[in-house]
Amino acid sequence: MASLSLKGIQKIYPNGFHAVQDFNLEIEDKEFIIFVGPSGCGKSTTLRMVAGLEDISGGTLTIDGKVMNDVEPKDRDIAMVFQNYALYPHMTVYDNMAFGLKLRKVPKDEIDKKVREAARILDLDKLLDRKPKALSGGQRQRVAMGRAIVRNPKVFLMDEPLSNLDAKLRVQMRIEISKIHESLGATIIYVTHDQTEAMTLGTRIVVMKDGIVQQVDTPQNLYNTPCNLFVAGFIGSPQMNFLDAVVNISGNDVSLKVGDYVLKVPESKKQALIKGNYNGKTVVLGIRPEDVHDSEEFIAANPDSVVESTVKVYELLGAEVYLYFDVAGTQMTARVNSRTPLRTGDKAVFALEMDRIHLFDKETELTIT
Ligand code: ATP
Repeated sequence: MASLSLKGIQKIYPNGFHAVQDFNLEIEDKEFIIFVGPSGCGKSTTLRMVAGLEDISGGTLTIDGKVMNDVEPKDRDIAMVFQNYALYPHMTVYDNMAFGLKLRKVPKDEIDKKVREAARILDLDKLLDRKPKALSGGQRQRVAMGRAIVRNPKVFLMDEPLSNLDAKLRVQMRIEISKIHESLGATIIYVTHDQTEAMTLGTRIVVMKDGIVQQVDTPQNLYNTPCNLFVAGFIGSPQMNFLDAVVNISGNDVSLKVGDYVLKVPESKKQALIKGNYNGKTVVLGIRPEDVHDSEEFIAANPDSVVESTVKVYELLGAEVYLYFDVAGTQMTARVNSRTPLRTGDKAVFALEMDRIHLFDKETELTIT
């Protein structure tokens, strides 16, 4: 397998549009890298530059230390799996998987070994004689994956490979892809706009916006320590709540005023505000829905972090409930246990878990550290 290096990668399309700006990333052997970001942020463009399907306008791409900028796609030792996994309808599963190798004049017995090995990994052993029309969507997707696996490439590039599948199949295939990554020890770059895919599959996630990398980190670190307001809002579902808050520093006491509520800032979050001279300034207070509590015990133990409101919407998701309500004119979400007695229209008290708040500079939108 392979390591990749993207240094100062740029993409300027012939019409002058700057789709990717100064993209830097070192990918280690066996990593599972995810590109996420809103539509049009440059994920596919970057992936296509790695594949060689799109010219690189600036910077250097190396695979295993070898500069690849001008190497033909077929000579990059890369396999790509797209969302539109056109299989040959007249060929069996076996032949679909063997086709690329036959073109390359790989000996028959070697082809047979590779196809059967891929079929075993993908649990397609019993379907090798079927034609694509006799397969489910997920099975077809696995055949498409099989075509890539038999080539034993250095790198797999996957562009939203699951986006054509229904929700249940997506979950199944997500698990399959995770297993494939484990069993092949493959280096994978995977483009998605699906939060769950990104969080569950990636060893590291690259969050992009407007052609610019915002943050590269493990799923856990992105979730717990986003570097700016955009990443904080993009990673996590339902998304983080954001409230404007005025900082009040008085000696060693620091509080945040949100509308009429005064919230005490705990020791763990104080220093950043004091150090940054935020007294009197408005900052953005971020809090994830699971850190907004409705339990009586939590509220009683945290009287300095309480807000009151009326439940506007009650959404039951089975094990948990999302409650939507307004605080100081801003809509908030609390993610609470389904045993909550609260329902739409109820007056409610919520306590914010202040040790878990995120603070952002309102102008730069960067996390205050
Ligand atoms: P999506 O999630 O919608 O697939 P993406 O993040 O993969 O989006 P890209 O397909 O990489 O986005 O496109 C990045 C930007 O480049 C978009 O604004 C797109 O309109 C623009 N773009 C793509 N191809 C071209 C082209 N051939 N010429 C000019 N601009 C292009």
